Parts: sequence; C-alpha cells; structure tokens
Amino acid sequence: METNTVQRRERGRKFIVKPKVCMFCADKTPIDYKNVSLIQRFVSDRGKIVPRRRTGVCARHQRRLAQAIKRSRFLAMLPSSPNHVYNISGAEKKA
Ligand SMILES: [Zn+2]
Repeated sequence: METNTVQRRERGRKFIVKPKVCMFCADKTPIDYKNVSLIQRFVSDRGKIVPRRRTGVCARHQRRLAQAIKRSRFLAMLPSSPNHVYNISGAEKKA
C-alpha cells in the first residue's frame, strides 16, 4: 500500500479523492420531479444529467434522480437540449 501511494505521487496524481456522501441519503430528502430547484443542481448548463462521479450521489438515488429529471423534462420544467437553456446575456444566435 505504501509503495502504491508513492508511485502515484511520482506520476503526478497527487489529488486526494474525498469520499463524497450522497446528499439524498444524508438529508433523507425525497427526490421529486416537481422540485425543480433541487433537481436543477444535477443538470449541467447544457441540460445534461451530471454523472454520479461528480455529484457523489449513490447509485440508487442517481437512478431515481435520472427518472425525476426525465419526468420534469417532459413537463418542460428542465431543459433537455442546449437550445432550451435561457441565455441571460441576451446574445441570441441568429438562425
Ligand atoms: Zn443515496
């Protein structure tokens, strides 16, 4: 184990991965497709679902989250393509 860490350092991979705790497991907040403000955090600026490895959500909750995101996309509460993302700067693309 000692040698492993040393080798990693030599390769330049120094960053320590923090064990992330799933926020849904920790807070016991229910995943609801109507709770857009909560779900929005797990959607990228291009409307994509953020992968589990970046958010730290557990597999079970990621599955439920994905389902909730898809549901609220269907109800047009979340974007499903970058075209749907509202541009605050006001710079519109010319079609
Ligand atoms: Zn969880």
